[in-house]
Amino acid sequence: MDVHIVSSIDSPEFTHLTRALSRSTLIGLDAEWKPIRSQQSTFPMVTLLQLACQLGDDPAQWDESLVFLLDLASIPLSSIWELLKDVFVSPDILKLGFKFKQDLIFLSSTFRAQGCDPGFDKVEPYLDITNVYKFLQHKQGKKVSKDTKSLSAICKEVLGFSLCKELQCSDWSHRPLTEEQIRYAATDAHCLLGIFKVFQAKVVKEGHSCNKVKELRQFNVSLGLKDILEMPDGDNKLIGTKFCNALDIVQATASSEDCERIAKGVEVIRKTKPMDESLWKIVRKYGEKLLLRESDRIPKTSKKKGKKGSLMVDCREKQLENSGDWQGPPPWDISLGGDGCPKFLCDVMVEGLAKHLRCVGVDAAIPHSKKPEPRELIDQAYKEKRVLLTRDAKLLRHQYLIRNQIYRVKNLLKNEQLLEVIEIFQLKISEDQLMSRCTKCNGRFIQKPLTTEEAIEAAKGFQRIPNCLFDKNLEFWQCMDCNQLYWEGTQYHNAVQKFIDVCKLNE
Ligand SMILES: [Zn+2]
Repeated sequence: MDVHIVSSIDSPEFTHLTRALSRSTLIGLDAEWKPIRSQQSTFPMVTLLQLACQLGDDPAQWDESLVFLLDLASIPLSSIWELLKDVFVSPDILKLGFKFKQDLIFLSSTFRAQGCDPGFDKVEPYLDITNVYKFLQHKQGKKVSKDTKSLSAICKEVLGFSLCKELQCSDWSHRPLTEEQIRYAATDAHCLLGIFKVFQAKVVKEGHSCNKVKELRQFNVSLGLKDILEMPDGDNKLIGTKFCNALDIVQATASSEDCERIAKGVEVIRKTKPMDESLWKIVRKYGEKLLLRESDRIPKTSKKKGKKGSLMVDCREKQLENSGDWQGPPPWDISLGGDGCPKFLCDVMVEGLAKHLRCVGVDAAIPHSKKPEPRELIDQAYKEKRVLLTRDAKLLRHQYLIRNQIYRVKNLLKNEQLLEVIEIFQLKISEDQLMSRCTKCNGRFIQKPLTTEEAIEAAKGFQRIPNCLFDKNLEFWQCMDCNQLYWEGTQYHNAVQKFIDVCKLNE
């Protein structure tokens, strides 16, 4: 175990830490504080924060881990507040903890006491080792017990060694820390990575992992950037990874001063290394979120001893303010590698909006199943690079799983919803786009219109074409997906006129 104690921000250890954080996609978190003997009206002061960083995402290089012990009794907290906040909410880093909510409450209060208000209120994506353990038990066909086991017991069962808990209640404010304390603190955070590794191997073995990206990595030598961008699963992550590799080469060949400069300049661009696909899948499937509420800021003196065990991951949103507002470019933005074509996924609650969007020629899908789980919806939106439109505030809790890919529609009426979406996403609607898409299935129409004869042939045994249309010499359009036929009759012209009015195309 490679352990570094960080006691000042002007130290090589601190530089080492920031660099490790920018290369980690997985970190184990733990904190130590001086135990409070009696019931007090304040939270204990956290004096040590342990970060076990997993460098590299290749399981074959899993030995590459570093443990940093942040000496919060020595470092001015304001100088690391921003850094920690970034790490806690970075979508590129999966945070592991063992009932870390309690630690976060104390940590937050410790920072607030030094003027870093409002401390910390969120850790996401997060995965609790308790839940990882329950998953593993379940997979082994064991009965999942309701009681939560201690970290030491979990460690013993999963990794084959138990943690010595003797030092848990030692004086963590005393400096210097003893060798035993250092070892104890580092192991507590480090074992989280080990337990996760077992879990990840299990998940990957079960085929939840997709090897596409890895395959691509082997073959992408001959691929240009354009090819990569055009790939169906065209992942920005791949490019991110390539960029990181290039950066590592630059850093390895440059002088240490250059490195410093480059690292500082580049930090803004890349901040952290993106997760690989298999880890990202785990986050999407099992990722949680730690959220502190206002009430968590007040010490409850009546709290029973050992209550730590009953604090569960809390997903309730404090408030949903701002979360419905669009903040960045949508996934079809060409600068993000998109194709410039707006694509939406309309939740069951806004299915009418899907039809309206199709009427104005916008690609709007609906969920694959009638009663989709939030994760299914998110998965579909992610895979098909769509923005999920919903009126369900609860869905926004999952927003962290697909950054900037959920939008909460504010209006209740379809016409107004349509206008809202057009405005928020700055969609350009022109008259010749109206009725250019199948309203039934979201499919595209065949390139050339059919004549009446061709249409009658195409509709045989499938759709009835009213006789009155036969002598009108109309053009028929057929959906390439569901074969539905459309024609430019009165209904069509009425609909066109309606959407010209709704979208205010005349103005
Ligand atoms: Zn269709």
